[in-house]
Amino acid sequence: DPISDFKEEKYLEEWVMKYRSLGMKGRCADYIPALGESNRSDLGVYMINSNGFEMKAGDWNVPFTLQSISKVISFIAACLDRGIPYVLNRVDVEPTGDAFNSIIRLEMHKPGKPFNPMINAGAITVTSLLNGDSPEQKLESTYALIEKMIGKRPTFNENVFQSEWKTANRNRALAYYLKENGFLESEVEDVLMVYLKQCSIEVTTKDIALIGLILSQNGYDPIHKRQVFPKQIAKLIKGLMLTCGMYNASGKFAAFVGIPAKSGVSGGVMASVPARCRQKNLFQTGCGIGIYGPAIDECGNSLAGVELLKHLTEVYDFSIF
Ligand code: GLN
Repeated sequence: DPISDFKEEKYLEEWVMKYRSLGMKGRCADYIPALGESNRSDLGVYMINSNGFEMKAGDWNVPFTLQSISKVISFIAACLDRGIPYVLNRVDVEPTGDAFNSIIRLEMHKPGKPFNPMINAGAITVTSLLNGDSPEQKLESTYALIEKMIGKRPTFNENVFQSEWKTANRNRALAYYLKENGFLESEVEDVLMVYLKQCSIEVTTKDIALIGLILSQNGYDPIHKRQVFPKQIAKLIKGLMLTCGMYNASGKFAAFVGIPAKSGVSGGVMASVPARCRQKNLFQTGCGIGIYGPAIDECGNSLAGVELLKHLTEVYDFSIF
């Protein structure tokens, strides 16, 4: 019903207004100097269901870099390139309870297999597995998959990449440990180049909402009516997103929001709502949600973004539990 749909979008605008100011209580991820310059009061949201119905509000069209959200895409790309068993031989499927860039377990638990692909150690390993011999070819694997899902070539933020490349000492340390333990299929500098470039791919909330939608349909793109990746990969990555996608707040997020999601330190959150049989609302056939709010909390998640998602899950009963 177009009239009530229009009303829903007006509500969405009100909710964005309500949570926007929360950003002023947080900080942008200034350990990557270029991200420190983002506007803390930005907040935007984009929702799209499997019929193509869209709802958006606030700063939904402000570009931001994928950062850790790229870990979802490179994992899918690596599974497509090498097969699930090959990838899971080098990275586990367990949450850690450590910070996303923590190094501690790589030495503590021999042989240092990364716990999951949603933390940096796991994501760097996965990136090294992508098809291709050169960093350019490996990066292309992830780019091509994004392009297929959002229908255009995403832009690249050279400024963020340079800023992070220069300050990536911790990621370098992680990569050297992984190399020492035999988990990397690339040279350290090459894999860092690919990993940090994939983090610097630029998107809007609409782009990640589209990817969230395809995940919700188990790899099927309902807009272009084609299977982009197999259902098995979709189920695996959604399990990883639910248990590890929101860093050390993944448990609380699962309990209080209850849907697979992945955040990035740039303030983006990509969430995926599965189809539901027992409810009657706009999103019963599943939807993708993209959020951007650059001020983050101590775990690295968008402050206003997570509160907005909590609100949405109350209103629409999104939780899978
Ligand atoms: N590029 C960032 C890093 O490696 C991504 C981290 C994140 O979004 N959590 O530190």
